[in-house]
Amino acid sequence: MSLALTDVVLTYPDGDRALTALDHVGLEVGPGEFAAVVGPSGSGKSSLLAVAATLITPASGTVSVAGRETTGLRPAERTRLRRDHIGIVFQQPNLPASLTALDQLTVMAHLAGRSPRRAAGRARELLAAVDLAGLEHKRPHQMSGGERQRVNIARALMNGPEVLLVDEPTSALDHVRGEQVVKLLERLTRDRRLATVMVTHDLARLTAADRVYSMTDGRLSAPSEA
Ligand code: ADP
Ligand code: MG
Repeated sequence: MSLALTDVVLTYPDGDRALTALDHVGLEVGPGEFAAVVGPSGSGKSSLLAVAATLITPASGTVSVAGRETTGLRPAERTRLRRDHIGIVFQQPNLPASLTALDQLTVMAHLAGRSPRRAAGRARELLAAVDLAGLEHKRPHQMSGGERQRVNIARALMNGPEVLLVDEPTSALDHVRGEQVVKLLERLTRDRRLATVMVTHDLARLTAADRVYSMTDGRLSAPSEA
């Protein structure tokens, strides 16, 4: 399994008490599988992705990525595992304003200590895969919202992850652009054998998914086939 969460509990401090953001959550996603998690605002979707991304360690339960249990890892090991195996697309495309589309991608390889020449080749290949081959030298302010989101997705794939985690990718887009982004995620999932988890509050986005989970007050339902 590329990504497996078992019996995950996550709490946040809340005054003298604790708020349970994830309440015994389990989730398994294999290569080439597209899972969607739907739920209202505040139900715990972003918390689920943060735990799956190993950015937050849960109070209990296990998170395994590419076959490795992560909750017991030291921070440096966890950082390396995240960098090599997990692609993360946050809700806001946080693209540095001064970098071209190509550099948004190559900087990821640079941070991972990889060869710049090969990085440029891979970045071009990925920009083409997200239908942005012509935009290599454009900066974020010269792109549409949909184009920025696709750069964001291509950037997440730069280090060849097995797992792709995507938080509300369509929230800033109109209907048509949003649909294009979800179709693109589906295609990348199949072509690159990714284990993809997309969270959304938007029910119209779910037809592309293999399985749909719903999240309510930190609890994740059993999946239904989409
Ligand atoms: P969603 O992404 O579905 O909107 P979140 O995972 O962001 O839900 O939030 C789940 C619950 O946890 C909410 O009640 C939210 O207010 C709370 N929460 C999220 N992040 C934090 C945090 N860093 N500290 C305290 N509470 C938080
Ligand atoms: Mg959220």
